[in-house]
Parts: sequence; C-alpha cells; structure tokens
Amino acid sequence: MGLNHEVVDVVPAPSFDRRRPRVAIHKFSSCDGCQLALLNLGEGLLDLARQFEFVHFAEFGVVDEDAEADIAIVEGSVSTPHEVERIRAIRARSRYLIALGACATSGGIQALRNLHDAPAWTRAIYAQPQHIETLDRASPLAAFARVDLELWGCPVNAWQLLAVLRDLLSGVAPTISHDKLCQECKRIGATCVMVAQGLPCMGPVTQTGCGVLCPKAGRDCYGCFGPAEHANGAALAAQFGQLGLSAADVARRFGSINSAAEAFAPHAQELRDV
Ligand code: SF4
Ligand code: SF4
Ligand code: SF4
Repeated sequence: MGLNHEVVDVVPAPSFDRRRPRVAIHKFSSCDGCQLALLNLGEGLLDLARQFEFVHFAEFGVVDEDAEADIAIVEGSVSTPHEVERIRAIRARSRYLIALGACATSGGIQALRNLHDAPAWTRAIYAQPQHIETLDRASPLAAFARVDLELWGCPVNAWQLLAVLRDLLSGVAPTISHDKLCQECKRIGATCVMVAQGLPCMGPVTQTGCGVLCPKAGRDCYGCFGPAEHANGAALAAQFGQLGLSAADVARRFGSINSAAEAFAPHAQELRDV
C-alpha cells in the first residue's frame, strides 16, 4: 500500500517502443528546487540526456507542455483550478507518472493553507485578490490523478530519481525504500542527535532517502522526506514533549514541510491556532 491515497507502491515498468524514451518534466505550484536538483546532477544529467529524449523540460530549455511522454515527472502541488485540469491532461498523455518532491507528494509547504482560512489569507496579502485564482487547499498530485511512483524530499535526492529512470529504462519496476531514517542513521554509525544533544529529531518517523544529511552534520531532521512506513507520530510527539517542546512546537516539527501527509497531519493540527 502507498503512503498516499491512490498511489500504488510497485507499478510494473512499461515497455518502451523507442530507444530513447520521451521524458516530460512539468512544474506545478513549487519553488523549482527539485528541478534544480536534477540540473545539478552534472555528468548524471548528460547521461540522462543521452538515454532519454527530453520533450518538455523548461529549466533545460525544451518547451512543449502538450508533448506526449513515456515518463512524466511532475514537480509541485495542485493549488489552482487550472492545475487540476493540467494534471489530468498530463496523466492522459503519459505512460508512467512520477510525483517529484514534497510539494507533489504531500502538498508541500503551501499546504499549510489547508490548516487556515486560505481566502482570508489571500484577501490579507494581495492588494487585488480578485485576480488570484487559487484553490482553498494545496493537494498532492495523487488527489487528482493516478501516480505510479512518488519521490519524496524537499528537494528530492536527484540520484534517487536517476536510479528510478535507469530502472525504467531496463524494464525493472522501480521501488523506493520507506524505511525510517533512524535505520540508515544507525547503519552509517552517525551519533544520535536526539540522545546526545536532546534535539527533537524527526528521524524516527521520516522516510529514508536523503543519505542522513542533517544528523550527519549534527542537526536534527525536520522530516522533509515525509512519513516513513508505520510511522508512530504519537510516540514521537510524546517524546518531544519529554524533551520540553510545547504543543505548538511539536506541531511545528510535524507541520514544516509535509503538514498534509497523512501520518503527520494529526500532529500538525495545533498550527490551526498558531
Ligand atoms: S519539494 Fe521543496 S524543493 Fe521541491 S519544489 Fe517543492 S518546495 Fe521546492
Ligand atoms: S539522529 Fe535522528 S535519525 Fe539518527 S538515530 Fe537519532 S533520532 Fe534517528
Ligand atoms: S535529515 Fe531529514 S530534514 Fe534533513 S534532508 Fe534528510 S529527511 Fe530532510
């Protein structure tokens, strides 16, 4: 079972009838950071360009939003009525669809609006709110279209995406580990910042995939890779309380990037009143 509704964990790889399968990379409501992570691959990006044909990738200079694609990679959340139509159209002309990054998999940081009165915020922030066409909620792609694979992270680990694309090219169904970050942290022998420094680390409930970036640097994880399998948010929230965090601070830990992810959302509710 997937970590979000309508997502199936292991979808068989489609068989491509061209030597260089077509890849389209689309942007929805997002900061472009996940696409930049891909651009920063360097040699890896050149390899990709040799193995795949980019038919739409605006950051790469190739623009054809309506192109048919073997693989669509979509960054960003669905936050406007137009984006609802776009994700359905992209799904219809793509054989395999990858949700790229926290915005696309959980709604991202912009889903904080889901906890509040979004129209009231719009009226308070914009001088002419009548020109803003937005939905009251920011949603993951899977709320509106079938998603074949979700890559979490803010930003994603682009090497993880590279491995997925190579799997697809080889006809192998890509799989992503949903193990807890703590498991990888222990395997590489990093010092636990929760035990050693009393920091409120989200590792016990966060999905692996980033290479333990923050604990390796002596910082606590803030959960940007989203919930791990069987995440016990209630137990970690209680532990954060033991460390001295207030209820609002506990909610901020769960509500920073993936507040709308199913396993984090109940513990981010306190942000409604913040
Ligand atoms: S997941 Fe993070 S880095 Fe990626 S587009 Fe969204 S906000 Fe930017
Ligand atoms: S530092 Fe964080 S991720 Fe690592 S073992 Fe401790 S709680 Fe888990
Ligand atoms: S350690 Fe946590 S916050 Fe840091 S990059 Fe990894 S998942 Fe994100």
